[in-house]
Amino acid sequence: MNANLDITPMQEWINTDGKPLIIAGPCSAETEEQVLETANRIKAEGYAHIMRAGVWKPRTRPGSFEGMGEPALQWLVEAKKQTGLPLACEVATPEHVELSLKYGVDVLWIGARTTVNPFNVQDLADALKGVDIPVLVKNPVNPDLALWVGAFERLQNSGLKKLGAIHRGFSNAQETKYRNSPMWQLAVEMKRLFPQLPMIGDPSHMAGKRALLTELSQRILDLNYDGMIIETHRDPDAAWSDASQQVTPEVLGTMLRELEVRQANY
Ligand code: PEP
Ligand code: MN
Repeated sequence: MNANLDITPMQEWINTDGKPLIIAGPCSAETEEQVLETANRIKAEGYAHIMRAGVWKPRTRPGSFEGMGEPALQWLVEAKKQTGLPLACEVATPEHVELSLKYGVDVLWIGARTTVNPFNVQDLADALKGVDIPVLVKNPVNPDLALWVGAFERLQNSGLKKLGAIHRGFSNAQETKYRNSPMWQLAVEMKRLFPQLPMIGDPSHMAGKRALLTELSQRILDLNYDGMIIETHRDPDAAWSDASQQVTPEVLGTMLRELEVRQANY
């Protein structure tokens, strides 16, 4: 594939002191109390550089929780005020972009179900024209590298340079132990095409269940990714979306500290 991207190094928009970037937070913003308690417990653990929370949820099938929408942005603003953690939200439409920018969301991400649709990505790129905000692009749900690359090219054509990739794995046609198969070679190929593109692993959506989080995070760190985005909830089993893959902020802290010790001992 012949492609070229002009990327701002990640450390120029978020300082992690050379450590892997950690984006942590609930799958979804559910209530003000849930957002604020989760945020403060993440902050107290000390590992996170950015807090994530979904405000508009792209559900594969109708009939489940689809996100709290604009009111949740207000709770996130309050969480940032209390913790100082910058905010990351998923955007899927120009309206999501407009509202996220209005409330001062710091980092946007494009979800896997959006990356698959060039019209959709182009609408987002148009809404972001001339806006200097970091945008992370999840891999498309299907293992099609060109769609992932195309999304970056569309954003680049709108003048965006603070770009990063999120590797969240790919849908399975048959049952596997993963909710979304990592297919590591595709992320490795992205990194070969664009060595300067930050690569962030999403072990939560690869795993689908918390028992697999450690081994996937270990692999992500072993492959020298630039960071991880991990779901954490104050009461994971009671989460309104993705309950089985979330852990408490404290369990996440223990896991990250253990992984750090292992990395240091290599
Ligand atoms: C999410 O991050 O909560 C999400 C919906 O992820 P994905 O787009 O990877 O399915
Ligand atoms: Mn989720």
